[in-house]
Amino acid sequence: MDRTILHVDINNFFAAVECLYNPEIRDKPVAVAGDVELRHGIVLAKNLIAKSYGVRTGETLSEARAKCPGIVFVPPHMERYIEFSRRAREIYDEYTHRVESFGIDECWLDVSGDARSGKEIADEIRERVKKELGITASVGVSYNKVFAKMGSDYKKPDATTVITRENFRKLLWPLPVTDLLFVGGATARKLKLYGIRSIGDLACADFELIRGVLGKNGCMLWKFANGLDRTPVLESCASIKIKSIGNSTTTPRDLVCDDDVRVTLYVLCESVAARLREQCFKCTTVQIHVRDSSLESYERQVKLPYETWLARDIFDAAFMLYKRHHDGRPIRTLGVRAMDLVSQESAQIRLLPESPTAERDEALELAVFGLRERFGNAIVRRGILLTDPKLSSFSPRDEHVIHPELFDKQRA
Ligand SMILES: [Mg+2]
Repeated sequence: MDRTILHVDINNFFAAVECLYNPEIRDKPVAVAGDVELRHGIVLAKNLIAKSYGVRTGETLSEARAKCPGIVFVPPHMERYIEFSRRAREIYDEYTHRVESFGIDECWLDVSGDARSGKEIADEIRERVKKELGITASVGVSYNKVFAKMGSDYKKPDATTVITRENFRKLLWPLPVTDLLFVGGATARKLKLYGIRSIGDLACADFELIRGVLGKNGCMLWKFANGLDRTPVLESCASIKIKSIGNSTTTPRDLVCDDDVRVTLYVLCESVAARLREQCFKCTTVQIHVRDSSLESYERQVKLPYETWLARDIFDAAFMLYKRHHDGRPIRTLGVRAMDLVSQESAQIRLLPESPTAERDEALELAVFGLRERFGNAIVRRGILLTDPKLSSFSPRDEHVIHPELFDKQRA
C-alpha cells in the first residue's frame, strides 16, 4: 500500500511575513536584508517582485539595488518567523501527528490512511494557511518524501502538484539533476562528465556506474531519481527548538583597544540578555566570535558554572574570552552568543547554582528591562556606553539559531 506524503513549503517566507506587517510595501520589490546601514549587508530573502528583477538570496545590497533600483530593504525579525512557523505547524498537526520540519518554512506530513485524497488535504491546508496566516504555501503530494518535496517546488506560489507513479517520469525526469534533493554543484559537475544532466539521465544510468562515481551517496540519489525513496516522515518535536541566541555587529570603525571592545561587547551582551528574557531562556555557555581587520575569524566559548540571563554575567564571560584569546589585532566584527539554553520551566528545577551576584543583579536588570519595555532602549544606558557614543549606538544584528543546519538552508 503506497503512502500519502505531503510537503508544504511556505512561499518566500521571510519576505511574505514582512509584507504582512508592512502592507504599504506589498506591491513593491522587497528584500529582507541584514545590516541595512552598516558595511556588509546581504539579501536573506526576497519577494516575488524582487525575484522577477533577478535579485538573489546571498548577494550584497548594492548588487540587489543595481538590478532593482526601487527595491525596499527591511531588517529581519526572527521572532516573527518563529511565531508564523509555529502557527503553520499547528495547522499541520491537525491532520496528522507525523509531521517533520525541514527548515523553518517547510514540513513533510504523512497522511497515509486518511479517507480523503492527498490532493484534497493539500488544497485545504493551502486555503487555511492563506486564510489564517495571510501567506501562501505550495504543496507537493506523492508516495515518497523526495517526490513530495519536488512537487512543492514544481509550481509556486500557492499551488498543489501531485506526483504519482504514473507521471513522475514525465514531470520530473526532464528537470536538471540539481533540482533533486541533495544534489549540489560538485555532484552535478561529476555527473556531467558522464553526460548525466537531467534527473532522467541519472535514473536511467547504470546503478554500478553511479555507485563507482559517487559512492554511497550516489546509490541514494539514483534511488531518489527512480522514485525508490522509502525514508519515513519523522515525528519531530512540535515546537521549533532555539539552540542559541546571538548578536553580532560590524563596527563603524575597527576596535583597537580593550575599551573599544568593552563598549561593543556590552551593547551586544545587553541585547542577547534581553532576548534571552523575552524567550524565557537562560544560558550556560557563552561564545564570542571575532573577525579581525585581515578578515581572519575565530570563535571561542566557555561553559559557565551557573545558568544566567544577566547581561553582566554574559559580558564577564565574553570579555574574559577576548582577553584570554585575542592577539591584539584590530577587530572588525564582534559577536556574542548565548548557548546551551535552558527554558525557564526546566531552569526552575535547579541543576546549577545561580551566579554569585544573581539576586542583586537580576533585580537591577529586570528594572532596566522594564523601563526599556515602556520607554524604549535609549532610556537607560549604562555609564560604560557613554564613553564612545559612536561605537555604542548601533543596533545589534540578531542571530537566532534554530537548528543551525536548517536555518542555513533558508539562507542558501
Ligand atoms: Mg519556502
